[in-house]
Amino acid sequence: MKVMAPDYYPAFRCTAGACRHTCCEGWEIDIDDEALARYQAMDGEFGERLRNCIALQPEPHFELLPGERCPLLRADGLCDLIAEKGEESLCQICRDHPRFRNYWSDRVETGLGMACEEAARLILSADHPIRLIQIGEDAEEPEEPDEEELALRARRDRLLAEVKETGPAARLKEYLIYRHFADTLYDGRPEERIRFIEKACGEILAGWDGRDVPWLIERVRVFSNEVEYDDEALEKRIAGAQ
Ligand code: SF4
Repeated sequence: MKVMAPDYYPAFRCTAGACRHTCCEGWEIDIDDEALARYQAMDGEFGERLRNCIALQPEPHFELLPGERCPLLRADGLCDLIAEKGEESLCQICRDHPRFRNYWSDRVETGLGMACEEAARLILSADHPIRLIQIGEDAEEPEEPDEEELALRARRDRLLAEVKETGPAARLKEYLIYRHFADTLYDGRPEERIRFIEKACGEILAGWDGRDVPWLIERVRVFSNEVEYDDEALEKRIAGAQ
């Protein structure tokens, strides 16, 4: 089925060593089965070193160093695994980050999460309303969406079209709608999600002078880290946004 994304999506490039808040710090990174099998078969000194960085229980993951740094993160901010074996050697989570996916019956919608400062910069500096483009095809066969699903998507599209703010504030609201409304399909809570989006927007924009975009990027990055990437915190916000 079709994979859709906002038109800024293909322009995303991880800034790696230049990133001030690397995602290789502070997160526990689980390793998928396919990557684990590759790491276990990797020969040579680097393969040995890589395996020494992995704990297998409770789930295979990289054992963080003090300061919650990934053991493969070098002092210059680059990833040792990429440097040694190339980007294709990464596990699924590292390959995906900061991307998210929302699934509809006939399409996958992907996007960039604002926990990444470069993604936040790209999203907030877009000079036009969010525009979805097809960026590829997924292996899954599409199914015909039922009327309820089509109505939900139409409502989402209306919410996007109704964004009244301008500039980065508009881009922020569109991002929150695009990222968080689609899951209504699974939890049937459109009103709660809309209230959550409104509240989150108000909270993030509180104190913004309307000009200082780096300030807003940092604000949204922290919000995304603390709320969007913490299932419990997100659920509390959505359930409490009444
Ligand atoms: S936070 Fe974004 S820019 Fe920084 S290292 Fe991670 S993916 Fe790259």
